[in-house]
Formats: sequence, C-alpha cells, structure tokens
Amino acid sequence: MKRTLPNIVLTGTPGTGKTTHASLLAERTPLRHLSINDVVKDKGCHEGFDEEYQSWIVDEDKLLDAIEEQVKEGGWIIDWHACDLFPKSWVDLVVVLRAGTEVLFDRLSKRNYPDHKLQENLDSEIMDVLLQEARDSYDEEIVVELQSGDADELEANVERIEAWLEQWKKDNNQT
Ligand code: ADP
Repeated sequence: MKRTLPNIVLTGTPGTGKTTHASLLAERTPLRHLSINDVVKDKGCHEGFDEEYQSWIVDEDKLLDAIEEQVKEGGWIIDWHACDLFPKSWVDLVVVLRAGTEVLFDRLSKRNYPDHKLQENLDSEIMDVLLQEARDSYDEEIVVELQSGDADELEANVERIEAWLEQWKKDNNQT
C-alpha cells in the first residue's frame, strides 16, 4: 500500500530533544507523534522493568506487531532512542538528533537517572552510537543528523523537516 504521508523515525540519545521536536512537528504538520515509550508501557510490549537501568525491557517483536498496522498507513513521527528495529520499508526519513556533552549532562541530570545510566547515555552520544546505528540500518540518503543544542536549532530543525515533508508530498503527487 502506497503511503500518502511519510513516516519519519526521530531518534537520538535520551535528552537530545526527540519529544520536543515530535510535539512541535505534530502541531505544525499533519504528522502524528508515535512515542514508542508510551506504546511499550501502554500495550505491555516488554518483559518487565529493569530496576538497575530504570527502563522497560522491550519485547521488539511484540512492539512491531502492536504498531505495524498504523505505521504502514504513513504519517507518523516515530520517536525512540533506537532505530534499527523498524523495517526499512516503513521508513522514509531518519532524523538523528544530537547534543553536546555539557548540554546533555544538564538535561539528563534533571531526570534523576542513576549515575551509571547517565554516564552510559553520555558515552553513547560521544561515540555516535545512534548515528552509526541509523547509517548501518538505512540508506545513507535518508539519514539526517541535526544538532539540538538550543531553541534556534530546534526551530531550524522543525522548519527543515517541514520543508522536507512538502517536497516528499510533491514527489509523491500530493498537493
Ligand atoms: P528526548 O525525548 O530525546 O529524551 P526531550 O525532548 O524530552 O528529549 O528533551 C529533554 C529536555 O531538553 C527537555 O527539557 C527539553 O525542553 C530540552 N530540549 C531538547 N531539545 C532542546 C533544544 N533544541 N533547545 C532547548 N531545549 C531543548
């Protein structure tokens, strides 16, 4: 089935601004925000809660089954701190959000993460883990890296994604 609106995977280390970007995009475009975190919790797509990492242990098969029907229709901003699980055929654009270490430290410190979880997320950002995962999983021309350090960058990113969406619609014969 041909999508009339594209699907965008919005990924990045926790704290890089996925929720913030997705909310703004959902306000300004016809795309809808699909928070994988919420799906995992609300539809029970997990094998329990990892107390050490303070996060759900995701059952990826269950998760993909839970979202497949709606995602295949198109028009979703899929917000998750991983991206390699989503089939290539579902995805039109992958946006990897980035933030500098100090900015990220400040944002994550406010979340009361255990120290080892905070450090692991900072390491992941420093080592480009999500960018590499995106590049390994999707064609390079659909992977875009965007800085999300401040409000100006947020605004510029949202405008850029809006422009990309308009172009996608033209290319796919939408008006
Ligand atoms: P994520 O969903 O990736 O974990 P959030 O969107 O929850 O990240 O953002 C974490 C915090 O950082 C929030 O307080 C948010 O307001 C702030 N933030 C995120 N991106 C930006 C940005 N580009 N400019 C200013 N603040 C930002």
